[in-house]
Amino acid sequence: MRRIFFVLLLLPALFTMPAFAQVPGAQIDVKHYTFDIKLNDADNNIEGKATVSVRFLNGAEGFSLDLVKKNAEGKGMLVSAVTENGKPVKFTQDDEQLKINTRAYKGNTRDYTISYSGIPADGLIISTNAFGHRTFFGDNWPNRAHNWLPCVDNIADKATVDFIVTAPDHYQVVSNGLQTEEKQLDGKLKLTHWVEAVALPTKVMVIGVAEFAVDRPGDVNGIPVFTYVFPESKEVGFKSYAVAKNILPYFIKNVGPYSYEKLANVQSKTIFGGMENASAIFYFEESVKSPDIEELMAHEIAHQWFGDGASEKSFGHLWLSEGFATYMTNLYLENKYGADTLKTRLIGQRKKVLDFEKGRLTPVVDTAVKTKFMQLLNANSYEKGGWVLHMLRRKLGDDVFWKGVRNYYSKYQGSNANTDDLRRVMEQTSGKDLKPFFTQWLRNAGHPNLAVSWKYNEKDGYITINVTQNQAYVYNLPLEVSVDGQLLTVPVKEKSTTARFRVKAKPADVKVDPNINLLASFEEKR
Ligand SMILES: [Zn+2]
Repeated sequence: MRRIFFVLLLLPALFTMPAFAQVPGAQIDVKHYTFDIKLNDADNNIEGKATVSVRFLNGAEGFSLDLVKKNAEGKGMLVSAVTENGKPVKFTQDDEQLKINTRAYKGNTRDYTISYSGIPADGLIISTNAFGHRTFFGDNWPNRAHNWLPCVDNIADKATVDFIVTAPDHYQVVSNGLQTEEKQLDGKLKLTHWVEAVALPTKVMVIGVAEFAVDRPGDVNGIPVFTYVFPESKEVGFKSYAVAKNILPYFIKNVGPYSYEKLANVQSKTIFGGMENASAIFYFEESVKSPDIEELMAHEIAHQWFGDGASEKSFGHLWLSEGFATYMTNLYLENKYGADTLKTRLIGQRKKVLDFEKGRLTPVVDTAVKTKFMQLLNANSYEKGGWVLHMLRRKLGDDVFWKGVRNYYSKYQGSNANTDDLRRVMEQTSGKDLKPFFTQWLRNAGHPNLAVSWKYNEKDGYITINVTQNQAYVYNLPLEVSVDGQLLTVPVKEKSTTARFRVKAKPADVKVDPNINLLASFEEKR
C-alpha cells in the first residue's frame, strides 16, 4: 500500500493481536471461504454467514478462527451458531478468537459455517464519501479482516474466496475475482456474488459497496481493466484511472503472468493512499485528481505480483512487498520517462532512508515487531528495500537481475516467501554468493557513512582516492567515482581503503557516486 500522512493518527485503534495459525504447529489450513454478508442503510450492523473449508494439518481437540468479539462499546461480532459439515457444534468466543470444539485427525477436511452479526470495529469501513453518500469498503491490512470476517487472519494462510453480498439495490458491489451473479431481491435488495479462484491472504480480500460509475478502459492480454469511481468523479476518474491499462503490460512483460481474472481500480475510503487488494485495488478518494496517479497505480499494480501473488511469509519481511513495489515503480517510470527520472527518484528515496535512520535504527528485515505491524510502514520497508533491489540490480546487471526477479515470482506465485527464499533464487540465477550482500543491507541497521578524499600525483599521473567508513559496521561495497567523465570503481572492503588510478591530466571534475548507485551518506574532502 501507499502510506498517507493521517495513517499514523489512526494507529492506536488498529492494533489487534494476530493469530499465527500458519507458523510451525498450525492446526489448520483454510482452503476456501464463502462470506455471505448482509448490509443495510438503517444502521452499521452487518449479518454474516461464513463457510470456512478447513484441512487439519494435525490431529486436534478443537481449533480457533480469528474474530473480534463484541466489546463494551458495542463494536465487534457476536456468533450465534456454528455448524460442522451442517451439524451444530459447540463454540466459545474470546476477545479475538472463536474457539470451535471438535475432534479431528490429520488430513480431515471439513466445512464450518459461522452465523454472526455486529458492527465492525474496523476492517470494514462504513462511512460517507465526499459527496455525502454512504459507502462500505473492506480495508484489511495487515490483520484487520477478523474485525468483520471469521478467518485465519494470517498472511501465510492463503485461500480462495467467494463474497455474496446482499445490500440495498442502489449499491454496486466490487470484490476480488469475477462477478458471477447479480440479482434483484424483494424489499429493494440486490444480491451480488463475486468469486476469486486464486488463493489470497486475508489482507487483500475485500468488498467495496457504493454507488459507482464503472468504465472499462481496455483489456490487457485478455485481462479486463475496470475503473470504479463515485458517479460525481466520473469525468476526471475515468480519465485518470485509465493509465492502469498502460502499466499492466509492463509488469506482465518483465515479471510474469498476472495472477487474477481482472483488474479493477476503485475510488474508495481506504485509510491508505492506495491498498493493493488483489484484482480490486482501492485508492484514496482524492486520487482521481492526483497528479501522481500514475506512480500510485504503478505501485499498487506492482503489488499484484509482489505482496499479493508472491507474498511475504510474515510481516518482518514486508520489504518483499513494499520494497519491490517501490522499486518496480521506479523501473516502470525509468522505462517510460528515462534514466534521469530514476536518478531523481533514487536521490529522494535515499534522503528518506537517511532521515528515517536518524530516528530509528532497525534492520529492513524487522522480525522484532510482533503485533504493531503498522510500524513497519516505514522508510526501511519501502525506500531502503527499494534501494537494496537497485544495488542488487547494479551488482548482477540488468539481464541477470530481471531473470532472478522472474524466477522468484515464478517460484512463489500463489505462495509465500521470506528474504532467504529470495536470496536463494537470486544466487541460483546469478551463480553468486549473495549472503554477505543480503546480510549487510537487510539484516544490519544503518548505512555506510563514507569520507571520500583524493589526491593527484602529478609526477606519476595518478589519482589516489581514499575512502574511510565512519560507521561502526564495515561494509563491502563498490564506490563509483567519476574523474573528468572517466568512471572509476573503488572496491571498499576495509575501514579505510585507498585506491590508485592512472589519469590523463590533473582532475578538474571529480564526482562521488555520480550515477546514484550507492545507499550511503558522503563526506567529500579535498
Ligand atoms: Zn505498497
